[in-house]
Amino acid sequence: MANQTKIALLKGYIETKGLKSTAQRDFIAETFFKTNTHISLEELLAKVKRKHKNIGYATVYRTMKLLGESGLAIARQFGDGQTRYENLPEDGHHDHIICIKCSKIAEFQNQKIEQLQSETAKKLGFTVVNHKLELYGYCADCS
Ligand SMILES: [Zn+2]
Ligand SMILES: [Zn+2]
Repeated sequence: MANQTKIALLKGYIETKGLKSTAQRDFIAETFFKTNTHISLEELLAKVKRKHKNIGYATVYRTMKLLGESGLAIARQFGDGQTRYENLPEDGHHDHIICIKCSKIAEFQNQKIEQLQSETAKKLGFTVVNHKLELYGYCADCS
């Protein structure tokens, strides 16, 4: 999905919430849409501040909350107390493996795991609509 489409969707969402879209909010969203990592609010704030020094943490926090609610960003918690956001993956679903020492986050896709998960759910009589799989350990540099 093009970033301009996402901005338009966000504006629509903000209107349905009875809020006004502001230049600051748009800029934060645009900055986020250009990222390709699992970015924390502090990291996003630092990026935003390079161009707009007067944007504060609270605005970034509220904007990302709206993006998460609207489905235009995925909020992730990897056990270090930080909320990180990532853009919707262009190539479908992926899972995460996280280093508990340096907080490196890698992504993986494995069709065998996906299949086993659906089979397991089916056996238990569940229809799965969503899942997250997170592996925690030490990365090659840390172990
Ligand atoms: Zn590490
Ligand atoms: Zn990811």
